[in-house]
Amino acid sequence: MLNIAVLGASISGLTMALRLQQSGHHVSVWDERRSFSKNTAGWLFHHSSLAHLRELGVDLSDRTHRITSGEQILNHPQNGDAHFESISTHGIRQQVLHDRLLLKLGADTLHLGAQFDKFQPEQGYIVESARFRDGREVCADLFIGADGVHSKVRSVQVPGPELRQLCITEIRGTTTVAELPEELMSSFKLYEDNAMGINVYLIPTGENEISWGLQIDLRRNPLAKFYSNGELNHLLAALSNFPELVRISIPASSLANSQYRESTDQELPDRFHRGNVVLIGDAAHPLTSFLSQSIDSSLEDTQVLGDMLDELNQGYFANIDTCMTDFNRQRRPILRARQRIMRNQESALKGNLSLKKMNPVVAF
Ligand SMILES: Cc1cc2nc3c(=O)[nH]c(=O)nc-3n(C[C@H](O)[C@H](O)[C@H](O)COP(=O)(O)OP(=O)(O)OC[C@H]3O[C@@H](n4cnc5c(N)ncnc54)[C@H](O)[C@@H]3O)c2cc1C
Repeated sequence: MLNIAVLGASISGLTMALRLQQSGHHVSVWDERRSFSKNTAGWLFHHSSLAHLRELGVDLSDRTHRITSGEQILNHPQNGDAHFESISTHGIRQQVLHDRLLLKLGADTLHLGAQFDKFQPEQGYIVESARFRDGREVCADLFIGADGVHSKVRSVQVPGPELRQLCITEIRGTTTVAELPEELMSSFKLYEDNAMGINVYLIPTGENEISWGLQIDLRRNPLAKFYSNGELNHLLAALSNFPELVRISIPASSLANSQYRESTDQELPDRFHRGNVVLIGDAAHPLTSFLSQSIDSSLEDTQVLGDMLDELNQGYFANIDTCMTDFNRQRRPILRARQRIMRNQESALKGNLSLKKMNPVVAF
């Protein structure tokens, strides 16, 4: 069994740690945050992700909302005709997933306030330890970088193409409602207004909950950046052009209590590992947009890597390097397909492409 240090304690890192513990590895998880703040975002979450988590003992069935169809409404108000029928997905709040993973993992595995700084030795592929800014250090056989889009692990160990700012802001939040509107009972909605440069998506995440997201092209909506200073009027004015369902789902109070980030893109590195350091989740492949299934991709990484390390243990691979090379080979095609979806959606949002219906990419 291996001694494994996971750097980053969000969805990828925590799920990875649970999966590895299940196989009997000794795992520690390190995160720069001192505590976990409340998160208001919600996602679409494929059925296979739910099943994977159930196998790890994390049952979310009481806190997810089943979704069997979706509608991608193009260039409102003409209402396009893209429907996703018979899909098997779920709406879930990020906070719920994170809390349950933490509960299952147990506090003694987790080390907070530990900002990864560098590996020792600094030269060479095989590293012995990871050092943190506060002077702490962890030795391990394998290091897993799960430190998100701005991954320091990636930049020091698997350098490659730079992260690119897309000039798109993503804002996400959740609204509590007395009851779900009929249109969102078992369906998600994605409004893509390429003329305005704003996408809106609505995901039911519970009987009384709608998680929503905005993607805004900042070149055509420069005032949207003042949102970060609490300036909501421009956004409220833009939303008033959308159907009533959007206005009900994103009231000013919910908008004021939301989170945002700037969208980024980055080519996949030549490989996801170097020596005994491997990347997973957003650190390996930032997939930020709605249909590009970032969260599903992160969870699939943990599943595939966990299975491969089991196989390494059973002698199917000669060493960690061949095992990781196979991980790279398996994951790359599916991640590329999702990157294409993300880039199409980005182009359409910026008015450079007329958007076609884009089916989610199913890995398993
Ligand atoms: C606004 C927004 C919109 C999104 N939209 C979608 C969407 O529509 N669909 C979707 O599927 N996904 C979406 N995502 C992405 C989704 O949140 C991630 O895919 C998911 O959280 C898994 O990410 P992760 O665990 O790999 O990385 P992250 O969630 O980014 O976690 C990285 C962790 O590493 C820690 N860390 C960072 N640097 C260091 C360091 N130097 N040392 C130690 N720890 C460090 C951070 O504190 C954090 O806990 C969105 C994310 C945001 C913020």
